[in-house]
Amino acid sequence: MPHLSLTDLSNEWLSLNERFPSDTHQFVLTFFQNNAKMLSERFYEAMLSDSGASKFLSNEDVSQRLGSSMQRWLSGLFASFDQDAIKRLIAEQRKIGEVHARIDLPLHLVLRGARCLKDSFASLVKNEALSGEQRIQAMRFVSDTIDLTMEIMGQAYSISHDRNSRAEEAYRLFAITQNIANEKDQQRAAVLHWENQLMFDQAVGKKGTELPRIQASDFGLWFRHKGVHAFEGSAESTAILDVMDSIDNVLLPLLGTDIEDAESPVQRISLLHDLRDKVRSILFNLDSLFEQNNELESGRDVLTRLLNRKFLPVVLTRQIDQARRQKTSFAVMVLDIDHFKQVNDTYGHQAGDAVLQQLALILVNNSRSGDYLFRLGGEEFLLIAVDMEKSQIKRLADKLRESVARETFRLPEGKTLNVTISAGVACFDNHPDHQRLIRKADDALYQAKSSGRNRVVIA
Ligand code: GH3
Ligand code: MG
Ligand code: MG
Repeated sequence: MPHLSLTDLSNEWLSLNERFPSDTHQFVLTFFQNNAKMLSERFYEAMLSDSGASKFLSNEDVSQRLGSSMQRWLSGLFASFDQDAIKRLIAEQRKIGEVHARIDLPLHLVLRGARCLKDSFASLVKNEALSGEQRIQAMRFVSDTIDLTMEIMGQAYSISHDRNSRAEEAYRLFAITQNIANEKDQQRAAVLHWENQLMFDQAVGKKGTELPRIQASDFGLWFRHKGVHAFEGSAESTAILDVMDSIDNVLLPLLGTDIEDAESPVQRISLLHDLRDKVRSILFNLDSLFEQNNELESGRDVLTRLLNRKFLPVVLTRQIDQARRQKTSFAVMVLDIDHFKQVNDTYGHQAGDAVLQQLALILVNNSRSGDYLFRLGGEEFLLIAVDMEKSQIKRLADKLRESVARETFRLPEGKTLNVTISAGVACFDNHPDHQRLIRKADDALYQAKSSGRNRVVIA
């Protein structure tokens, strides 16, 4: 997708502004500053009355956060005239688009909101003491500006949304095919088992309708119900489905036709060759699907076997979604080893690696199987503690910190070592943006470090 540069966009915004006389600017600016609250209320009233939109918004969200952000957005939109201010405005629109993508807000709702705002403005401006021409100019200025913001938001939204969907896809694959080597062997064997059965049945002269259908075989069932989701959208997957379909609906009926037919011995041999090719193509495509999946091993961090940070946005987005729907809470804990550089400097990198592995094990042993553990990078980890209220998290965090402090870490060559960690915790506060939650936990970690280390700070 061609991406308009920041300079292109700011030139466009500036030239939009220049198309309108200064009295229009003045009027619109004052109007929006004076009426931002009312416009925002009208906007959310319309949104909340729409069942599609109210799924994403609650009255509480609106009164606690959204109302004031919307007012800020509205009053800032017409206040900028120089290039730098416009660039900041553009950056702000992009950020809003990215947030919308992160929380998976459907684009049509945003556009509907824009339409509602333009409509509200048009009806309110009727009461203002303006000439007909001035009113038209004001309406066009507002409408063009809002359209431009939608364009910028929309572009950031789709870029970001694509990225999120790819990560989502990778995670889905990863989650479904955890035990990948095993699955691959099992499914290969199932294909060959079906082929073997078919060879036997056709050799003993079974009719077309009696021959085993691949789609109904163990492999066929697995592929159609599970594989297809795991490998969704891949060319190999489509090819396997097509080949299975042609085996069952073209080849099998032909193979099962009357053996007395004069031409049939020759035809049968060519059908069997065809069958063998088709089975090979299934196995080939299957191998290639599993091969690509090996890359999913990178979904886990090689050293610690914890989840790779690449999946953090997907997992957190789901968690937020679930918590909002089920009205439950959860916590995010970011933790970092204290003075880890010294461990490396004193005992060597290999010793450092051993500490990281043992720490990962402590984390696994002190969390529940429904929780998620990520290695964010270096000696920094993140725990998502699901179904966890603010009152419980302090205990868990302290338990973790103490377990680490108590542990004797074993280094190569029989040496041992004690280490401590610092942690920052943030509890889900109903805000749909996962980055904000991580930022809160990060800030808390920073406080834990600066106030002396080996401690937990709850945001
Ligand atoms: P602080 O208490 O402020 O966290 O101090 P620190 O020394 O732990 O902090 P800093 O982030 O400056 O140092 C982190 C070090 O972690 C730097 C790097 O040498 C080391 N490190 C990062 N990744 C790895 C790794 O995979 N293996 C090993 N052995 N060391 C790593
Ligand atoms: Mg550290
Ligand atoms: Mg660090």
